[in-house]
Amino acid sequence: MPAGVSYPTICDVPHMFAAMTLPVNDPMHGFCRDCLAPQPRATTRCASCGSPRLARHPELYSLEIAHIDCDAFYAAVEKRDNPALKDRPVIIGGGKRGVVSTCCYIARIHGVRSAMPMFKALEACPEAVVVKPDMEKYVRVGREVREMMLALTPLVEPISIDEAFLDLAGTARLHGRPPALVLAGFAAAVEGEIGITVSAGLSYCKFLAKVASDFRKPRGFSVIGEAEAVGFLAEQPVTLIWGVGKAFAATLERDGIRLIGQLQRLERGELMRRYGAMGDRLFHLSRGMDERRVHPEQDAKSVSAETTFDTDLASPTDLVPILRALSEKVSARLKKAGIAGRTVVLKLKTQDFKLRTRNRQLGDPTRLADRIFQTGLQLLEKETDGTKYRLLGIGVSDLSGSEKADPPDLVDVQSRKRAMAEGAIDALCEKFGGRAVETGYTFGRGHRGRPTGPEEDDEPEVRHPWGRI
Ligand SMILES: [Mg+2]
Repeated sequence: MPAGVSYPTICDVPHMFAAMTLPVNDPMHGFCRDCLAPQPRATTRCASCGSPRLARHPELYSLEIAHIDCDAFYAAVEKRDNPALKDRPVIIGGGKRGVVSTCCYIARIHGVRSAMPMFKALEACPEAVVVKPDMEKYVRVGREVREMMLALTPLVEPISIDEAFLDLAGTARLHGRPPALVLAGFAAAVEGEIGITVSAGLSYCKFLAKVASDFRKPRGFSVIGEAEAVGFLAEQPVTLIWGVGKAFAATLERDGIRLIGQLQRLERGELMRRYGAMGDRLFHLSRGMDERRVHPEQDAKSVSAETTFDTDLASPTDLVPILRALSEKVSARLKKAGIAGRTVVLKLKTQDFKLRTRNRQLGDPTRLADRIFQTGLQLLEKETDGTKYRLLGIGVSDLSGSEKADPPDLVDVQSRKRAMAEGAIDALCEKFGGRAVETGYTFGRGHRGRPTGPEEDDEPEVRHPWGRI
């Protein structure tokens, strides 16, 4: 923000803020993150409660875009529910061949990381307590956190089960506090009411709000203002930018670019000439320019389910029932959400971690397990050439509402019959709960036809176009 401009002060603040006007751009003025008491002078501890957790920033009271991320979410929920785990390294994940979904901060000190194969994680931290994921519980807790966010503003854009952007612009009057205080109050309330911790980032745009929330975890509260954005970014590695993954970072490295500051010195035209559409993003984000709004309830891009096996599998006899069970899971999610998808996507990971994705577009969107399965089966048949796989997944993309899904197919009488049967099965399952009826493909296999391996990987079932967020 330009210097010398006078900013409006927030004058309708309640109780402890009522007697004072908040100096919007006073670098000394802050508040205590624990008791929220204002800290008008440069102190290192709160004058009211003695806490050292003070928030202070020149733009503290003028920034409005927040990103909230729960700290080691699954592990935090398990620790909350089992106090014996409190001081122990905890890993949430499947069996020996699975991967780490989440690990607590104690396990991270030992070098355990998300997505690490379980055997490696246990090598790094043999004393870790491994807990199988309880997705239903995490979804429940995630919803509770989401509800608390929605009480602050309707402009909540969920990114995954445990993180979201919030646009707090214009909420000062409603809450009687500026966004920074609303955010700190929210973090304290989640700890008190739900029993897990969050990290919050506050900035003027989504990109830097997300960067800020990652900055100091756990229980972080970080602010990146407009005035410091370009200077701050200049020192950061290019991988901080959304969409710059390992492969693209390697491309930039070959061009001698490692720091965002180097991107700041390149013109937009030059960046676009070199890197196409990505160059445009590099130009804007490297300069802290991000115009994207916070969109409440962003639409899902795909719905999928996948599983990592205990042992590598190559034979259709093993893979087909798993494909069936996963198709049913995807179908159940689609039906629950009232949506359907037109493109079926099969995902395989080979023994040596190579990813194969195959897709097929259908004439009409579907939400039927049988159509998803039959299409997936055709795709799978071409891949069962003796290759050993460690992971199988199936999903649909190209999502739409379910009104136009699965029109009666007069040509294919069989598929129509199966669709009708599936409708009848759904009705029975709804009436009697769970898997009241099972198909021949899955019946009697493993855990009632479900994959016998570890639980599904902790991949978000909703994917977003920009992978990192
Ligand atoms: Mg998180």
